[in-house]
Amino acid sequence: MSVANNHIYVLAPSLAILFLAGLLVVCWLIQRQQRFLLWLGAAYALAALSLGFRSIAPFEVLNRHLVTAGTLYLLGTWCLAMSLAERRHVSTHPRAALLVGVLSLAALFYFTHVDPNLWFRLHLFSFGTGLILLLPIPAVFKNERPKYWLDQALLWSYVTYAVLTMLRPLLTLLLGYTELGDFLHATSAYWVITLMSTLFFALLFTVLMCAATIRETIDKLRRERDHDTLTKILNRRAFYETAQQRLADQRLYPIAILAGDIDHFKRINDAWGHDRGDLVLQFVSSTLQRNVRSNDLVARFGGEEFVLLLTRIDLEDAERVAQRIRLELSSDSTTLPHGPKLTMSFGISAITDPTQLENALKEADELLYGAKNAGRDRVHVIGRIYPDISFEHTIPMGEIIELPLGR
Ligand code: GH3
Ligand code: MG
Ligand code: MG
Repeated sequence: MSVANNHIYVLAPSLAILFLAGLLVVCWLIQRQQRFLLWLGAAYALAALSLGFRSIAPFEVLNRHLVTAGTLYLLGTWCLAMSLAERRHVSTHPRAALLVGVLSLAALFYFTHVDPNLWFRLHLFSFGTGLILLLPIPAVFKNERPKYWLDQALLWSYVTYAVLTMLRPLLTLLLGYTELGDFLHATSAYWVITLMSTLFFALLFTVLMCAATIRETIDKLRRERDHDTLTKILNRRAFYETAQQRLADQRLYPIAILAGDIDHFKRINDAWGHDRGDLVLQFVSSTLQRNVRSNDLVARFGGEEFVLLLTRIDLEDAERVAQRIRLELSSDSTTLPHGPKLTMSFGISAITDPTQLENALKEADELLYGAKNAGRDRVHVIGRIYPDISFEHTIPMGEIIELPLGR
């Protein structure tokens, strides 16, 4: 009765969904690690095939292949659930989904061929489809809130779609389309609502997923731009940018700047190789990070030179932090086993207003230079007088150096 060849336009929504599937696969090819794009593409392709077939197949053909079309549709539904689950790192509960899928198909077959009952068929199949979509949701809500509001919007549109899918036959009834025969017709209100709502949500998911992916990619690029690739701490450029933000916050004063430089690093490279030198740089970076608080900054300014910005700290406490780092480094026996002690020198200056950053960095650098001249493995703080030992008298590496008096 409902051969829709004269209504070929009912294919349009399915073709549009198929087009979106292609678009998502292309996006996935560009961003391979974003596998949820592929799952979403697969979901759309399967749904488009099933809906397209359902839209144009003559009634008898449709009845004969109803279970096949239903299987495609449920597989597509599961791929959609996979897409969300993959993005939010939860499970789709595949076994439960398989059980629901098999029961839905059994109901579809039974109420079509054994005991034809359109109501049961529509309600049970829709309910099963919605249930498969909802299976990953409890775990998503249990997990921490996502970083981007786009993910939150995606989640809520997904839940809305799942609930609408579950209740679609009921809602169609509530809209006043009560004629049973109408539900079978490819141009019936029920079918048009199904196609249009599927197309609408497919478009919405695509826009939200793509926007979230773009946002994530920009964030990743920004992280790469701001962080040193070897040590993963801030680079010089990002340090200046972030330091300005810290300096603008009056609550974070007094602020101290520490300039640190690994002693005789060239010798470490020469004796142990560049790779071990890299490990030392990573170890030093993690030691620096371990010894600061959340508002503080740790940056690699170049080679083996580091700069720390410590907030809400006076010079005495800033010196204590530097000494603690120095001792932690020199007591480590794993990074350079059987080798010389790993030592580092520091210069410390203070900042009391935002205009002083450049000057404080320069002072800290000069103090560091003084600490090197005085024999390395030591901390020089602004305002103190230190005996100046020339380079010729530099104490050999590995020897324990007494801290200058007066501390
Ligand atoms: P000083 O105690 O006076 O600071 O002596 P130093 O040997 O530490 O300083 P110098 O500036 O002479 O040598 C720094 C060395 O750091 C030279 C360079 O090869 C090495 N270096 C710079 N960047 C890296 C890196 O990313 N990895 C490794 N392994 N070595 C690096
Ligand atoms: Mg050095
Ligand atoms: Mg250096």
